[in-house]
Formats: sequence, C-alpha cells, structure tokens
Amino acid sequence: MRRIYLDHAATTPTYPEVVKAMLPYFTDAFGNPSSIYSYGQEARGAVEEARTRVAELIGARSEEIIFTSGGTEADNYALEGVAYANERKGNHIITTSIEHHAVMGVCRFLERRGFRITRLPVDKYGLVDLQDVKRAITDKTILISVMHANNQVGTIEPVEEIGKIAREAGVYFHTDAVQTLGHVPVNVDKLKVDLLAISAHKFYGPKGVGALYVRKGTRLVSFMHGGEQEKRRRAGTENVPAIVGLGKAVEFAGQEMGKEAERLAYLRDKLIKGLVEKIDHIRLNGHPTRRLPNNVNVSVDFVEGESMLLNLDLEGICASTGSACSSAILEPSHVLLALGLPPEQAHGSLRFTLGRENTEADVERVLVVLPGIVAKLRAMSPLLKTPK
Ligand code: PLP
Repeated sequence: MRRIYLDHAATTPTYPEVVKAMLPYFTDAFGNPSSIYSYGQEARGAVEEARTRVAELIGARSEEIIFTSGGTEADNYALEGVAYANERKGNHIITTSIEHHAVMGVCRFLERRGFRITRLPVDKYGLVDLQDVKRAITDKTILISVMHANNQVGTIEPVEEIGKIAREAGVYFHTDAVQTLGHVPVNVDKLKVDLLAISAHKFYGPKGVGALYVRKGTRLVSFMHGGEQEKRRRAGTENVPAIVGLGKAVEFAGQEMGKEAERLAYLRDKLIKGLVEKIDHIRLNGHPTRRLPNNVNVSVDFVEGESMLLNLDLEGICASTGSACSSAILEPSHVLLALGLPPEQAHGSLRFTLGRENTEADVERVLVVLPGIVAKLRAMSPLLKTPK
C-alpha cells in the first residue's frame, strides 16, 4: 500500500539534495567554525553562507539572523529575550489565544515571573481584530507576538497591519513564521516585524534547526551563555550540518514557492470541495480564503478525530487532529475552542496539510476513503444524536 503523507504542518521529508549538502559537514569538513585553521574556516564559511541565504529570503541582513535549535527555541528566545532586556520599560506582553505551544508556554513562564500577558481573542475564522490590538496597548507594553499563520487552521493573520500598529506605539513586534516560510512571501520589512521565528523541518530541511531574525537595534538579552558564538547571543558550538541543511532548504523554498503554492492551493480547494460534497455535517475550520495554501482543517460531526485518524492510517493516509505536539493529548484543541467551536466539534476535527510529494491522486484517494470511514464510525457512534 502506498503511503500518503498529508501532515506537512507537523514535519516534512528532508529533500535528498539537502541531505547531500549536509553530509560533508559530518565527515570531511567536520571542523569547529570557531577554529582559526582552515578546517574551522571551511565550516565557518558554510555557516555564514547559510546565514546569508536565510537573510536574503526574508529581506534581512545576515547579522540579524541567529541560528537556533528550531522554531520553539526561536520563539522562546524572542519572548524571553525581549522581556528581560526591557523590564525597566514595562512588563506587559500582548499575544493571541491561538499561538503555538512554543509561544503559549513561554508566556505562561513569564507570567509566573511577574510579566502581564494579554491573550487576544480571535473571530470565528481565527483572525485577530486590529482594534483589539490597539486597545490592548498600554504604556507598560513592551512586546506584541502574533503568529503569521496558524499551524492548525491555516488562517493567515494581518501581520503587516499589526506591525504598523506596534511601530506607531513604539512596541517590539514578534511573529512566528514557522508555518509560512516556503508557502507565502515572508519579508521582515513588509511585515514590519522586529523578531521572526522559522524552523527548517517545516520546509524540507532537517529537524532541530531554525533561526530567529532580530532587527538591528532590538534590545534582547542572550539566550545561552558561554562562548562567543552568534555574537554571544546564543552560545554553543554551531550545529554546522543542520545549519547547512537549513541554508539549502531555504534556497529551494525561495526557488519553488510561487508555483508550488499555486499547485497546493488547487489541491487544497479540490479536497475541501470534495469533502463538503461527500460528507454530511462537515465544516471547514479557519478562514475560507486567508489561509495557508496547503491547509485543510474540517470538523466532522458525530465522530472522534482520533478514530478517523486511526482508520485513515489503516488505509495508509497520514493526517492529524491538531498540532503534532498535542495529538497525543485527548484535549480539544485550544485553537478550535478559541474559534468558538463547542468541544464536541473540536474533538471531531481533522487536519490535512499538503506538500511537495502530493498529487491529485492523493486527494482523490482521501475523497474515496474518508466518506466510508465516517459512515462506518457514525454507524457505531454514541455521539450520533440525529441520524441522517
Ligand atoms: N511554531 C509553530 C507555528 C509550529 O507549527 C511549530 C511546530 O509545529 C513550532 C513553532 C515549533 O517548531 P519546532 O518544531 O522547530 O520547535
């Protein structure tokens, strides 16, 4: 049975070309970038080339890029770094109720340490209201953190407009662009952000590496303390092969983005249309148009998301009920609850996220398999109150 992978928001397969680019840095070119002899300088050159590639893709300067161990660290660093460097100015941070755990977790951590966190609500599509952002700002606000696009429902937030508001108020602005890089254009000046997080494994790079963009002049404390690496902001010997892999993945993301996004959006719309036509009592979660080109998130009444997922797995189809990190927990998704879904609808959600290897045949296969699974589960469902 051919496996159909439809969970690219959780992670993507690493491109063979990316792996190939990484391999020499484990063996022949294994030097430490901090060593001044040629081995070291070869590795240093590779790290700096990757930095330039990341910077170029997002319209930044290379000295504004800090390599991290992934999206979680980049988000944690942005929030903690700004919070502790700007404590004298204020202790208030504005974020949303639909952020990834990487932002939510660090907000809770800072809250326990005396910072005040405002979590903005979203509308039924997952969009933040600009008036709410404006109203939440006080003279103690030091940072606004709003994700570029939501990892579960795919809604793309009005980041550019929020950036303008933050700038006018003299408040730093961070965005989590982990789900957008490679899918929609990400330019730090256009988005008016001071800090931006990315993660390589979401765009065909290796896991465990990412980057934080920090606009020049942003006050930020160091995240790791030790050596001089990353201008003393993130000490520790660089993960050279992973950074090289990130650089290579960024190169592909830049080359392929436009056409690939169009192809994925076509497949996405075909999948949404087909599901709505073939399954009763199903609805799309997230914004109908302002959404990631590869994201389909639906709620199916009278069935559990986990049951659908396991049955799809038996048919060789990989999907998700929420974000990867929470799919082991049987709690309704905080994002779907924030959109106003009742818990039973949130429990019946499924997310398909398309990627490079997917074809129209994959979409068609889901459209053949899922209606049967839903019918079977509904036939034995205690949740079914109004049989059709
Ligand atoms: N932010 C978002 C929006 C994500 O989707 C993820 C991963 O699922 C992360 C942050 C965390 O990134 P990483 O897995 O690289 O730590």
